[in-house]
Amino acid sequence: MRAVLSTGSNIGDARAHLRSVVDAFAGHVVAASSIYATAPWGGVEQPDFLNQVLLIDVPCSPHELLARCQRLEREARRVRDVRWGPRTLDVDIISIDGVTSADPELTLPHPRARERAFVLIPWLEVEPDAALEGEAVAGIVEKLGAQGVRRL
Ligand code: AMP
Repeated sequence: MRAVLSTGSNIGDARAHLRSVVDAFAGHVVAASSIYATAPWGGVEQPDFLNQVLLIDVPCSPHELLARCQRLEREARRVRDVRWGPRTLDVDIISIDGVTSADPELTLPHPRARERAFVLIPWLEVEPDAALEGEAVAGIVEKLGAQGVRRL
């Protein structure tokens, strides 16, 4: 199975935090996008986010993949205090092949992916014909706009 992961960081060595995910899935990474900078959401004063999308061959079950992603977040000592606030590392599973799930613990495809240019634009870079619930990601981005997302 193929998964799309979205990673983000805006604390400390953000590039190193993103790289820790690439390293953790070494041997399973099919493609890694460029790193993109994104102005933060939510009105909290904080540095820009860095974001990246990875395509990986899933080496385990979807829930085990979520557990691995959450372990990486913990290892990066993610700060969970402020909602929408700064985070050391955020790893979201955007989609796993044709898997759909309404489980709140692992919702697939990720319910907020289609609103987030910082997910969709890097995803398009590595998979130009990507689709989300049957809709071309390129078309979603066209409607959404770039939301200030810029390739570094
Ligand atoms: P957040 O703090 O916004 O990253 O949300 C983390 C929570 O979202 C965790 O409790 C996860 O179990 C849950 N979650 C649901 N669907 C997903 C998904 N597709 N990828 C990552 N986390 C998810």
